[in-house]
Parts: sequence; C-alpha cells; structure tokens
Amino acid sequence: MPRKKRNRRIQVPPVIKGLSVYGIRGRKTNEVILHIEEYETIRLLDYQNMTQEEAAVLMDVSRPTLTRIYEEARNKVATAFVEGRDIIFRGGDFYFDTNWYKCGSCQASFSDYGETVTNCPVCQAEPVVSLNEFYKSK
Ligand SMILES: [Zn+2]
Repeated sequence: MPRKKRNRRIQVPPVIKGLSVYGIRGRKTNEVILHIEEYETIRLLDYQNMTQEEAAVLMDVSRPTLTRIYEEARNKVATAFVEGRDIIFRGGDFYFDTNWYKCGSCQASFSDYGETVTNCPVCQAEPVVSLNEFYKSK
C-alpha cells in the first residue's frame, strides 16, 4: 500500500492564479501545473530567503521532503522558462493555516480568523469565494 502523503502547511494563498508567457502569439501553450506546496517552497526559499530548515518547520515537513518539493518546483519553473509555457498554480497536497476567501466584487483576499464569513470585509459584497476550495480543484 502506498504511504499516505501528509498535507503541507501553506501560510498564504498565491495572489494570482498563474503566469502567462509573453511574446508567443496565436499559439496555445502547454501549461505547467505548479502545485501550491511547490509554489510555497519558492516563496519561502527564494522570495523570503529562508533556509530549508526554516521552511521545513513552517510547512510541517521533514527537511528531505522540503528539498524534494523544492527541486520539483524549480524543475517546473525552469521548464516553463525554457519552453515558453504558462504556469498555473493549482492542486497538490496542502492545507491553509486558516480559511481564505476572495471577494468576487473587489477581488480582496482575506482569511476568516475562525469566524463565519458571508460578506467581504472591505466592500461588504457577497458572495465570497473560498480560495481553499479553488486551489484544491484539479
Ligand atoms: Zn469586496
């Protein structure tokens, strides 16, 4: 029986759904799917300049597991760079620390801090979309 993968903790969802290539016209690119935990390793290691030890603690995984996720992430980003492919942030084995939502009206992202959310705290509009569910979808 395959070992069940433990979910990796993600602090904040990505602010965008992915990246699109520039300079290729009229051709639909074969996109690269970057899992949310792969995105998180790049954010923590390359953007926040953490050590792999620090990032592993935050994501609640072992250091070797963190390294494996990071190598896969870099490989995907390199493939997109070199081959000119779009990157979509989606799926993976992860959970958010808290429930995250996005307002369909003003596009604000916010978390619920344990409270039930029905309206956007910025513009009061409803409905709000669960980002947790959005990023889980394949
Ligand atoms: Zn709003």
